[in-house]
Amino acid sequence: MSKVLIVADHLNGQLNSAVARCVSAAKAIDGASVDIVVLASNAAPIAAEAASIAGVDKVIAISDAAFGALIAQTVAPVVAGLADGYTHVFGPSSSFGKDVMPCIAALLDVEQVSDLMSVESATRFTRPIYAGNAIIVVEAPAGRVVVATIRAASWAAAAAGGRASIESVTASVAASTHSHVLDLQQGKSDRPDLQAASRVVSGGRALGSAENFAVVYALADKLGAAVGASRAAVDAGYVPSDLQVGQTGKIISPELYIACGISGAIQHITGIKDAGTIVAINKDADAPIFEVADFGLVADLFQVLPELTNAL
Ligand SMILES: Cc1cc2nc3c(=O)[nH]c(=O)nc-3n(C[C@H](O)[C@H](O)[C@H](O)COP(=O)(O)OP(=O)(O)OC[C@H]3O[C@@H](n4cnc5c(N)ncnc54)[C@H](O)[C@@H]3O)c2cc1C
Repeated sequence: MSKVLIVADHLNGQLNSAVARCVSAAKAIDGASVDIVVLASNAAPIAAEAASIAGVDKVIAISDAAFGALIAQTVAPVVAGLADGYTHVFGPSSSFGKDVMPCIAALLDVEQVSDLMSVESATRFTRPIYAGNAIIVVEAPAGRVVVATIRAASWAAAAAGGRASIESVTASVAASTHSHVLDLQQGKSDRPDLQAASRVVSGGRALGSAENFAVVYALADKLGAAVGASRAAVDAGYVPSDLQVGQTGKIISPELYIACGISGAIQHITGIKDAGTIVAINKDADAPIFEVADFGLVADLFQVLPELTNAL
């Protein structure tokens, strides 16, 4: 029987919502039992949150001051030490997962399966390649632990209402001699989180300046939506980089995505493949974004965004 260990991503004492999506991916493996390991300076409250995810059997809580900031150098050896007895070790394809999971795989002497989209069997999975232009089936060797990052946008979150047991464990954590977190700077925003939001309004290069982005923020505020952006808008300095959607930004799956003045380059589209309804506003009727949009409006965004915001 498959036994999956999920490495919890968390920040500021709160579990990343991608962890519940990892549980869905783990449960897609026939009859798998699922444990979650939480490593934190104070793991108890986060472990309690993890234990409430339906389908989780056990949460392993490890508190240590070294986990005040989660980096591969301290996390990976501890998780690798726990992996014995598990058939799979999963983590989300978040910045945390991309840092930690390859090191866990290396310590366990296996190759990582990245961006797992679907489960065909305990060792066969699909994942996107070429910026999401193609989906490949990958087969991990049988009889070895499978270490994988989970493409959160491809999985619905497992429901709440679970009552997993919590086991507090002490681990010997070796402080890294060469890597330290000096500072963590977080953007402050009252708006919904881009990766968790059910509605997102995004702006592209067409906005032309940081000031002009006000029309995007105004519509987003009316809709209770998060704000996103294309890489061109980020590179031009109109918005901070944590708003970037796409291959080298965030992969999101909101119910509603409104792309304003975004051409629809494949690297952007790969970030919104799993969005429910895509609305595109672009003054060029031939813009590729219209090929993926459910609703398209050929118009000048500086005219229609204020009109739309006022009409709502
Ligand atoms: C390795 C790699 C990774 C990348 N990763 C990403 C990524 O993660 N995310 C990402 O977004 N891009 C990424 N890119 C960049 C991507 O290829 C595009 O260059 C980028 O998405 C273009 O951004 P844009 O659509 O805002 O700008 P443009 O392509 O310049 O499009 C602007 C659009 O606005 C329209 N427009 C202009 N004025 C108006 C107006 N007044 N009203 C309405 N519409 C108007 C135009 O018709 C045009 O379609 C990556 C590229 C590479 C090579």
